[in-house]
Amino acid sequence: MIKLEAADLAARIKEEVKAEIARGVRASLAAVRVGDDPASAVYVKNKIRACEEVGIRSEHHALPESTTTEQLLELIASLNSRDEVDGILTQLPLPRHVDETAIIEAMNPSKDVDGFHPVNAGKLAMGRPVFVPCTPAGIIELLDDRGVEIRGVNACVVGRSQIVGRPMAQLLLQRDATVTICHSRTRDLPAVTRTADLLIVAIGRAGFVGRDHIKPGATVIDVGMNKVSEIDEVRKLFGDEAEKRLEVVGKRGSTLVGDVNPAEAAEVAGMLTPVPGGVGLLTVAMLMKNTLKAAKLRRQ
Ligand code: NDP
Repeated sequence: MIKLEAADLAARIKEEVKAEIARGVRASLAAVRVGDDPASAVYVKNKIRACEEVGIRSEHHALPESTTTEQLLELIASLNSRDEVDGILTQLPLPRHVDETAIIEAMNPSKDVDGFHPVNAGKLAMGRPVFVPCTPAGIIELLDDRGVEIRGVNACVVGRSQIVGRPMAQLLLQRDATVTICHSRTRDLPAVTRTADLLIVAIGRAGFVGRDHIKPGATVIDVGMNKVSEIDEVRKLFGDEAEKRLEVVGKRGSTLVGDVNPAEAAEVAGMLTPVPGGVGLLTVAMLMKNTLKAAKLRRQ
């Protein structure tokens, strides 16, 4: 089985952005984060660091957990109106008491570098994408980079979130795949996923997809990012690599695993994206690309 590592492609995408910025394109990103969720803090830190790497100006608005919808709407309005801000990123999930839909809909669609605004989601659904959510856009780049065929294949997307599953299915459809979308109410999930030449899993359940879900030789893209710390579970998930992962658990208290069981997938899949080292790296790189695009579109 081939491991679809993404570090090299992510670095190349960022280099391309960096080269354009160096040629004189000005671009800036405002990142908004609310509350103390440690995972969100890490994601935003990585995004700000990537901005620094490629030369995109960035600002970080870290707001307390008690921030209200109204206060957040005020911030979004001010970022919308400031000409020097090209892209706005609101790190999800927001705290429960904040109206996430209202916040997303308040963003200027031309600064919506995450592609979550209904205008951008609608354009994607109509086959005229402008800003595409970074994770599915990165997956398409990876498949193209590795020469994985999309046209005409049976593609199955497990998960139907606005952030990953739905836009992923739209992109695959646009590229002429025959697309099936599965979710928590799908009957006999393994029977459906086993028909897929290209299986994309984004459900948020550690190692849920195993050998029974995978067609022999299929390309499997694992979007999930979950933490595991139980020794038995780590052994079950990582097979030969378990000892290495247990060392990580020893040092950090947990290790990252996707939604696919890597040990079982290795027995059947043709290709698999690793976690970490796969899709997550591309998400950040594509955010840089979308921010550059927003800057260029707004300044033209
Ligand atoms: P959501 O929780 O928003 O959506 C999960 C989806 O999975 C839902 O559509 C749900 O179905 C479906 N689902 C849940 N359980 C099952 C099941 N047992 N069988 C079939 N379908 C199921 O998650 P996200 O899309 O935001 O994220 C998914 C995963 O991807 C998470 O682990 C997240 O951390 C990761 N992620 C990684 C990124 C990266 O850059 N690598 C970026 C974004 C997310 P239903 O709709 O019926 O409830």
